[in-house]
Amino acid sequence: MRRFFRIFTFCLGVIAIVGGGAFLIVHPATPLPDHWNPIKPMRISDPVTPLTSWKLSRVGNDPEHCPAVLEDGARFDILSDFRVSDACHIETRVRTTALANVALRSTETRCDTALTTALWLEHGVQPAAQDIFGQRVASIRTQGSYNCRTIGGSSRMSTHATAAAIDVAGFTLADGTRIELLDDWGDGGPKGAFLARVRDASCDWYATTLGPDYNRAHADHFHLQTRGWGLCR
Ligand SMILES: [Zn+2]
Repeated sequence: MRRFFRIFTFCLGVIAIVGGGAFLIVHPATPLPDHWNPIKPMRISDPVTPLTSWKLSRVGNDPEHCPAVLEDGARFDILSDFRVSDACHIETRVRTTALANVALRSTETRCDTALTTALWLEHGVQPAAQDIFGQRVASIRTQGSYNCRTIGGSSRMSTHATAAAIDVAGFTLADGTRIELLDDWGDGGPKGAFLARVRDASCDWYATTLGPDYNRAHADHFHLQTRGWGLCR
């Protein structure tokens, strides 16, 4: 009899936890904030939680949902997919001139590359600019995303050939101050500190970051790549 009650109580507990969890996730009046709710779409401005990168991975390749999420503070056009060959193409293609309220020169890229960049700007670059300079970053200088080419000195295709990477060479603050990787990396002052911090923050969002610490080919830009895994230098 006692064994029966133990099993009965255990089953009730499981039902309460599963039922309570389901209630929290699906009930329209749930007290669970959206950024902790796996079925709620992500927003760029949501606080970052352990669910954020999982939500990004689900939405990034979705041609319908990715542009909807990107919209927050962005200016962009949705373009049809572009295909030169198996090696060179842009899926979920967008052309953007602003991401997360930061201007950039017109850049064609994949939606998930744009979205990842928006998240880095919002949660990595702007907090660093506020802490170090007390103001926002107004624009970034990109060196493009799509480029049908091999990695320098090898026969392997670059992630730029599928627009899964974007190169960023500098930042302009709201007061017009310019910060350039080529001039300011490692300068021992606030600009160098800012660049080191945004490089470190990029590694939370991109699969690979290559900058001046990696090699001389990256002395003047960060190569920020959403595919593959590994380096953050
Ligand atoms: Zn690059």
